[in-house]
Amino acid sequence: MKLYNTLTRKKDDFVPRFEGKVSMYTCGPTVYHYAHIGNLRSYIMEDVLEKYFRYAGYDVKRVMNITDVGHLSSDGDTGDDKMLKGAKREHKTVMEIAEFYTKAFFDDCKKLNIKTPDVVVPATSYIDEFIRVIKVLMEKGYAYEAGGNIYFDTSKLDKYYVFNDFKEEDLEVGVREGVEEDSNKRNKADFVLWFTKSKFEDQELKWESPWGLGYPGWHIECSCISMKNLGEYLDIHCGGIDNAFPHHTNEIAQSEAYLGHEWCKHWFHVHHLNTNSGKMSKSSGEFLTVSLLEEKGYDPLVYRFFCLQSHYRKSLVFSYENLDNASAAYEKLTAKISGILDGSGDVDKAKFDELKKNFTDAMDNDLNTALAVTAVYDVLKADTNNATKLALINDFEKVLSLGLIEAAKKFSDKNSGENEDIPAEIAELLEQRKAARKEKDFALADEIRDKISALGYVVTETREGTKVTKK
Ligand code: AMP
Ligand code: ZN
Repeated sequence: MKLYNTLTRKKDDFVPRFEGKVSMYTCGPTVYHYAHIGNLRSYIMEDVLEKYFRYAGYDVKRVMNITDVGHLSSDGDTGDDKMLKGAKREHKTVMEIAEFYTKAFFDDCKKLNIKTPDVVVPATSYIDEFIRVIKVLMEKGYAYEAGGNIYFDTSKLDKYYVFNDFKEEDLEVGVREGVEEDSNKRNKADFVLWFTKSKFEDQELKWESPWGLGYPGWHIECSCISMKNLGEYLDIHCGGIDNAFPHHTNEIAQSEAYLGHEWCKHWFHVHHLNTNSGKMSKSSGEFLTVSLLEEKGYDPLVYRFFCLQSHYRKSLVFSYENLDNASAAYEKLTAKISGILDGSGDVDKAKFDELKKNFTDAMDNDLNTALAVTAVYDVLKADTNNATKLALINDFEKVLSLGLIEAAKKFSDKNSGENEDIPAEIAELLEQRKAARKEKDFALADEIRDKISALGYVVTETREGTKVTKK
């Protein structure tokens, strides 16, 4: 499989260190608020990647952190702690906020058919491990204490800017435009590993450390959680493109300084979902969440479909018009699939392999999900029986997870019986019968069927759902 690697800036063959096994790390959410659908674009595409690895036969172990401490509103160690801001906003404790939004995040993931990673670690549960690794970095001369905080010394590295060609001057521009410069830093790019002296006197969560009462910086959590659960060599690390610098750059600096060798070979970054007015935000403009889309009548899986229709390395513009187009296409597709649900015939193995190749070729070429979706249309158009078509769609769905079969079943249920022009009275009775069946009150359901029959209509249950015809 060819997969773009941000580290080498080209499509590399994806080759895990140990045959047949993939160690995969994902930067998790900062749980100070709901995830916006931009954040979820990253998790959808990472989910597709994980599922494709499994589909290709790899034994995957995927680990994700939950950032519940230390993520400041600026990536450059300035600004407020996002968690503290969230707690103040809602007059709750930081841990209450963390618990509430962690649950909300996984609820959203469930609606989007995003599988929960094998291991999920809240940063606050790993404080001892962060302290242990920071101690080693101090001993090895990669970290220093200044003004009470512990900083990573980027000048000790041969190469710090691994992903881009940021120059110190560029950062100075950032500092001038930003809030304040930290005079404790020896080099502009240095970053905090452990805060003790901070302007957040009201910081709720603090832990004892050899350097005093304090809390960890954001970057150290991912290095430690990954190394502890996935070992010294990581096959692939994922995140949104904004994480490449400084977050992932700092992760590499810390991990490799600690380990003394290369850490992660392959870096997978999902580009941003934007709105027409630019960057997606939780604080300005419409706060786009999965729940908001649901309130507006969209099936969350239509949003997943919308994401899969574009390549993960292109930024994607969200608008309701674009989502409406995806919704119409999704409905049409599921309507077509409803026509093959009977699965008649025997699976034609040769045809199956031939059509499956369209799908794997697309996915093997840098996870081209748009072409993989086209492969579904190719199946429906193909000159083969329904058994083969259904088997292929079920197979692709292991990766795409678009809920296509379920939606197609719903489509046929909704449409069964609607071909006939039935009077309102019968339609009303049918609704009552449906409700009775749902309640498992079959005696009542039969009674209603008899009433319908007395009015001159026959009710039959078919594979596609309930059908009504005039006697
Ligand atoms: P956060 O909760 O801020 O730590 O972000 C969670 C994930 O969402 C990270 O992988 C970010 O890189 C990613 N992310 C943030 N904004 C966007 C966006 N507009 N589109 C896609 N991914 C994003
Ligand atoms: Zn991270």
